[in-house]
Amino acid sequence: MKNLVLFGPPGAGKGTQSEKLIEKYGFVHISTGDLFRAHIANNTELGKRVKEYTSNGMLVPDQVTIDMLQEEVSKHPEASGFLFDGFPRTVPQAEALDAFMQSIGSAIHYVIALDVTEEEVRARIDKRRLTSNRVDDEAEKVNKRIDEYYDKTIHVLPHYEAQGRLARVHGIGEVAVIFADLCKILDA
Ligand code: ADP
Repeated sequence: MKNLVLFGPPGAGKGTQSEKLIEKYGFVHISTGDLFRAHIANNTELGKRVKEYTSNGMLVPDQVTIDMLQEEVSKHPEASGFLFDGFPRTVPQAEALDAFMQSIGSAIHYVIALDVTEEEVRARIDKRRLTSNRVDDEAEKVNKRIDEYYDKTIHVLPHYEAQGRLARVHGIGEVAVIFADLCKILDA
């Protein structure tokens, strides 16, 4: 089983590339953002707890996120590989993921960061706002999400770099070219 963390700031293209990777490699897609949105839409207990954070562009507390992720992974014993999208977003989440994967006899095999500048990310989310229907795509919330990324999430990179598991892909340009670069890493 091969597991991949796709990493990058909000608007880096994780969702777009995830779809293509799933189609090609058959990963089970675990997007914590999608999971939170589904809980909120279904008005579950978890949804009620996290709504305040997600709608304001703030990270959900680690333990809540980690518990939800572990539950989701456990639902797919048949999976031949997981693609984690939007997780881990903090160093404690990365540590929890390592420990959890080890506990189920697995590991994170690839961490690929989509390199996109802050300027590009802001421009993309500005555009997405017109069609996304996401309350957190409002300008002020976007600023908060980007701040959270540079404040908390970016520190996950040195965590994986120290373990020799980090690869970087230039994330600006044609979707197909970026996808081909991702595939090169996974097929190597
Ligand atoms: P983006 O498009 O900004 O990358 P996502 O769809 O991945 O956003 O996530 C939306 C929101 O869900 C985040 O702003 C945050 O509130 C919450 N969230 C998603 N993943 C995590 C996580 N790993 N840890 C904490 N909060 C998270």
